[in-house]
Amino acid sequence: MNRNSLNFSGGPGALPESVLQQVQQAVREVPEVGLSILGISHRSDWFAAVIAELERNVRTLLALPDDYHVLLLQGGATQQFSMVPMLLLHGATQPAEYLHTGYWSGKAVRAAQGHGPVRVLWSGEAAQWWRLPRDAELPFSPTAPYLHYVSNETVEGLQFHRVLGLDEVPRVCDMSSDFLSAPCAAERFALIYAHAQKNIGPAGVTVVLVRDALLARAPEGLPDFLDYRTHAAAHSNFNTPPVFAIYVVLLVTRWLLHEVGGLARMAEINQRKAQTLYDLIDAHPGVYRGRAAVADRSRMNVVFELPDAAATQRFLAQAQAAGFSGLAGHRALGGIRASLYNGLTLEAVQRLAQFMEDFARHG
Ligand code: PMP
Repeated sequence: MNRNSLNFSGGPGALPESVLQQVQQAVREVPEVGLSILGISHRSDWFAAVIAELERNVRTLLALPDDYHVLLLQGGATQQFSMVPMLLLHGATQPAEYLHTGYWSGKAVRAAQGHGPVRVLWSGEAAQWWRLPRDAELPFSPTAPYLHYVSNETVEGLQFHRVLGLDEVPRVCDMSSDFLSAPCAAERFALIYAHAQKNIGPAGVTVVLVRDALLARAPEGLPDFLDYRTHAAAHSNFNTPPVFAIYVVLLVTRWLLHEVGGLARMAEINQRKAQTLYDLIDAHPGVYRGRAAVADRSRMNVVFELPDAAATQRFLAQAQAAGFSGLAGHRALGGIRASLYNGLTLEAVQRLAQFMEDFARHG
């Protein structure tokens, strides 16, 4: 299947070609059901099997222990910014600890502040968000109700390449932009959330992995819809879920398992994709400047700058004309951002690298 543009946007991201072909077929008819995926009942046996298989696939991909729920929720990652403190910050006397490492973790901090005491343990503001903290800069408290951080800052292109925090404090992590792009030691987190629209599907569904014991901390009186226990009890089918989006995520997990061969393999491919662009950037220091500190460079979002606004505009216009879509940096930051989510092939990245090489030489 040929398309006129390759999708390098910050999200929604590219999906694997084989998944798109199955989706195309399913929009006409899901063969086992005889109906379009856009009109299949969420109460059908078929859809119950979709949810069950998706949950199994996530467990297999992450080697997730049995005492975790796999929930498929709506409201995006943004709703999780509030659902997490509604669960864990109610009546807390000690502050929850948050890392403010960029645009999205800042949103999580602001949402949590409305629910209880929050301490920003480290902020990247003084460093203008170009680096992440070292362990020595993080004096974690062993009595915090939880630690929250964002594993990959999508806007700034910063990614933690280690697990943070103390084992005795529940770790909560927003993995929206690197979920299932590599193994993530899921068993070390009490709660992980990630919307689908970067690495694993279209917008409309958010995956939450939560340790069962954590749910016992839920206060009484939460609105049903904002209480994880409701969705756990209803097997992610409390009200009408986004059947189409969930089905696409199922297809992506099958692709990860059976075509890619698991998350370690996916990580290798993603590493090669990112390295291809970082090598190119580093080879042309007069033209390109990578924004993130080298140790904290994201394998998902390669953020870089050109010498001035005119060069940036020229780059973006030529890239668009050559079929590279979505390269403008986030509106909060400017510059260029090449997002390399799971569905984008190494070959597509090599084509962008060739374009950047030509641009560096000839402008
Ligand atoms: N967290 C991260 C890391 C993100 O990248 C985004 C959006 N790009 C969000 C949260 C917000 O997600 P949503 O739009 O699904 O609410």
